[in-house]
Amino acid sequence: MTGMIIVRRVADLRAHVAAWRKSGSSVGLVPTMGALHEGHLSLIRCAKAENAHVIATIFVNPTQFGPTEDLSAYPRDEAGDAAKLAQAGCDLLFAPDVAEMYPQGFATAVAVSGLTEHLCGASRPGHFGGVATIVSKLLLQSLPDRAYFGEKDFQQLQVIKRLALDLDIPVAIAGVPTVREADGLAMSSRNRYLSAQDRKAAALLPQILRESAALLAAGGDAAPVLAEAEQRLLAGGFTRVDYVALCDEARLQPIPRAQPGSRLFAAAFLGRTRLIDNWPVA
Ligand code: AMP
Repeated sequence: MTGMIIVRRVADLRAHVAAWRKSGSSVGLVPTMGALHEGHLSLIRCAKAENAHVIATIFVNPTQFGPTEDLSAYPRDEAGDAAKLAQAGCDLLFAPDVAEMYPQGFATAVAVSGLTEHLCGASRPGHFGGVATIVSKLLLQSLPDRAYFGEKDFQQLQVIKRLALDLDIPVAIAGVPTVREADGLAMSSRNRYLSAQDRKAAALLPQILRESAALLAAGGDAAPVLAEAEQRLLAGGFTRVDYVALCDEARLQPIPRAQPGSRLFAAAFLGRTRLIDNWPVA
């Protein structure tokens, strides 16, 4: 529980990983933006179960936020996060500053096409470019055996699987099921922005996804089910719906009716807080 190492430099991260490797032990990586909750800690526990050593990273990556998004307001609590990580069995926290990750002259970007065309890729231009670039860097800096990402950000998980494959980064990318609150709301660092009234309304998102997924599983035309889901969100207090979409899980392209391996995705605002979630369609 004690003894977690905290490093801020890539060189120090590499030195610790090299020492572990020398003794033949495996390494798992869990990248995060901090403000940790049980969803993040479930990734740490999965990594701990499958690797001798676990690295967590905390870096609020400026390049994945749009100009009107919540970068400066994003919740930060490194001391609280470090205590939670140590408790969950994390061995090393890598918490670099922006200059360490993007030194002067930085000029490279990783772009994953196709998978980033729809869903959050359409409503958050530039977001997945920022994610793909920072995750590539974190994977190459730590060279873990396995890296863990939540299914809550399903599109992000698929983008990362693709880039690891395409760039021949020798790591297994593992998806971890979404951890939810008692009323079904997917845990998220952004949930703390919600007023008491909006927090109540937020539970409608997973509820509507679950009910719509059951209707779609019957195999009919998706369009009316998706339109109805959007209307119910707006009637329930959501102020804007970016999308409610049925896609195939592998390619993340919209499909007109459910097929094996399809998933329902949604992103919607409660005031200024943007929530996302997804649900498998059986
Ligand atoms: P974030 O700090 O929001 O960038 O998330 C870091 C990692 O935790 C990502 O792989 C997320 O998909 C994952 N994550 C966030 N929320 C949850 C959740 N409720 N359940 C499972 N994983 C999650």
